[in-house]
Amino acid sequence: MQANVLIEIKSKAIDKTFTYNIPINLKDKVKVGIRVLVPFGNRKLEGFIMDIGDIKTEYKIKDIIDVIDEEEVLTEELINLGKYMSRKTLSSLISCYQTMLPKALKASYKTNINKKYETYVTLLDKNYIPKTNAQKNIIDNIKENTLKSDIYKISSSAYKTLIKNNVIKEEKKEVYRLNDDILKENSNIVLNKEQKSVVNEVIKDKDKFNPYLLYGVTGSGKTEVYMHIIDEIIKEKEVIVLVPEISLTPQFVSAFKKRFGSIVAIMHSGLSDGERYDEYRKIKEGKVSIAIGARSCIFSPFKNLGLIIIDEEHTDTYKQDNNPRYDAIDIALKRAKYNNIPLILGSATPSIESYTRAKLGIYKLLELPNRINKKLPSVLLVDMKNEIKKGNKILSQKLIDEINNCLINDNQVILLLNRRGYSTTVTCNECGYVMKCPNCDIPLTYHKTHNKMNCHYCDYSTFKMKKCPECQSEDIQSFGLGTEKLEEEVKKIFNVNVIRMDVDTTSKKGSHARILNKFKNKEASILVGTQMIAKGLDFEDVTLVGVINGDATLNIPDFRSGERTFDLLNQVAGRSGRGTKDGKVIIQGFNLDHYSIKYASVHDYVSFYKEEMKIRKSLSYPPYIDLTLIKIVSTDYNLAYRESVKIKEYLVKYNIKVLGPSSNINKINNKYYIHLVLKYKKLERIYKNILYIVDKYKLNKKINVEIDINPKKIWYN
Ligand code: ADP
Ligand code: ZN
Ligand code: ZN
Repeated sequence: MQANVLIEIKSKAIDKTFTYNIPINLKDKVKVGIRVLVPFGNRKLEGFIMDIGDIKTEYKIKDIIDVIDEEEVLTEELINLGKYMSRKTLSSLISCYQTMLPKALKASYKTNINKKYETYVTLLDKNYIPKTNAQKNIIDNIKENTLKSDIYKISSSAYKTLIKNNVIKEEKKEVYRLNDDILKENSNIVLNKEQKSVVNEVIKDKDKFNPYLLYGVTGSGKTEVYMHIIDEIIKEKEVIVLVPEISLTPQFVSAFKKRFGSIVAIMHSGLSDGERYDEYRKIKEGKVSIAIGARSCIFSPFKNLGLIIIDEEHTDTYKQDNNPRYDAIDIALKRAKYNNIPLILGSATPSIESYTRAKLGIYKLLELPNRINKKLPSVLLVDMKNEIKKGNKILSQKLIDEINNCLINDNQVILLLNRRGYSTTVTCNECGYVMKCPNCDIPLTYHKTHNKMNCHYCDYSTFKMKKCPECQSEDIQSFGLGTEKLEEEVKKIFNVNVIRMDVDTTSKKGSHARILNKFKNKEASILVGTQMIAKGLDFEDVTLVGVINGDATLNIPDFRSGERTFDLLNQVAGRSGRGTKDGKVIIQGFNLDHYSIKYASVHDYVSFYKEEMKIRKSLSYPPYIDLTLIKIVSTDYNLAYRESVKIKEYLVKYNIKVLGPSSNINKINNKYYIHLVLKYKKLERIYKNILYIVDKYKLNKKINVEIDINPKKIWYN
């Protein structure tokens, strides 16, 4: 018997299986999906068994050295999924499997991660009469699951005597590192009619493949709906729930922990490799029934999967933006189909693509059009052009008045500004020189806390200059508004406690939760933050949301900038008035006539969708056609540009429509990125050509060609 083995090796050239002989002594141990050790050249490498059989080759083949796993780490489902993913993302098969598995299962990690054991003590001889006080003390303290370490310290000599006389016994048991058993709380929430009908619709077909789009406005009770459906499913099967990012959705996650207790595994990006491996094993061994996590949680190795839920399905992070560039929604569809189960995509602002699919009947549309028991907040647009004339540079008079109003009534305020740092550019007033990052060719942002100028694309950081490097003038000024300056300004005006939440204040583990807890406990009246605060937060005393520079996202040169603006405004507006009190929203900006802002201000997704679709159609963008982004990356700009022109010429020969090469110099971390965008109706039509390009540059050391099929962002990194 022979086996085809996919070798775990980091080489662009080797991405195929090799055939090995199965020696007699391993005959019963070699199974599809386990890892084995094989000779490769003069090395010993690990690999996955892909298939087994009488495999004929003309080459002399070697024996498998040993098996690593007893049970398969890749199920048949995951093996097929990897092949699909590799084709779909043009990435090596091994990189796809590595993405699916926790790091602990990689060859290089094996020695570091050991399963963790602890010694427990049990009482063997219940009739034993203790000879000393210490012995009695030890025996009295032995209960269910008693740790040796707790007993041993009473008296080590008495302990040893009891062991020797077989009165007590030691036992090694595996422990899982995260054992925060939260007490389950029963919910007394009774679903309303709309929620019930959504739940019933999904449950009645729970053993069939059905993708649903759950379009429910903010605060319509989607989370509650998910939990009721899950209640049903976990009677027999298991559930995967994806969220954009665990640390940004603490309330969502804790609601699940409270409702379902210890049968929930949380795949948090803050977990150590060991903790992650523990959570993974709980899933694999069926010790939990629900896995909640970000993108990669979609690969949870449940054997009896019954439902997949993707919350905030429109979020960009569901697609990985490095290789393999898989889309979790695409993988979810594949898994739901394989297992014959429902997939629920939930959002208050579905992606244009998803809503189109729902309209076409590819997804079934489920709707929750109303907030639980109340109205959506009223939204006011404030044109800052007029305010600036009056001398109000940052906050409009209207916003100041409303904040005061809020504070008087002991309510809370959220202020969104999607720009971190103190100011956005540092400029010389004498000659106009703009301080730029030497690695990225992008303006540096001033951070007052450390008096430094930072690049938001790479790690470059330098003290703020006192003199202009061009003309030596000392008249240096910073322009533009970031969250740091906004925080300072707000503190000055209102003289209340303000907390800021952005990348700079949340770099430490657990800091998200700390900030949000402080706000929840009303230790601060105003929360200032970037888009980080736009999603999922549910604070009942927040009755005002203010958006500063609400039109800023429109300036990003991407065909999705209107959609992103609508999403962001709609999501952040949704944080206001979620409790019993009514909410208000104020959006400030300079260009508020844009349809994405107008429709966000009246919570009208459907009109926004129609308007956006007209534009997508006239400019020929998704969902009317599909895109592939080719990034040509090199430290040598001229080389990258020349090659991009060649690639374009090659594609045009095959009548493929290509935009670019992008003319703006896009330097990130000392590498130049040149973009080509391909437009087409069917991927099959261009697939061979892309494959040819990948192959051509695979071994090129000076140029990297990255392929992003259905990119979430074009032009910029
Ligand atoms: P969404 O996920 O759509 O934003 P949530 O599920 O978080 O909405 O619900 C918003 C709030 O309403 C939550 O505080 C939730 O506990 C509450 N809620 C949800 N459904 C009901 C219901 N049927 N009756 C009463 N309160 C509900
Ligand atoms: Zn100057
Ligand atoms: Zn930089």
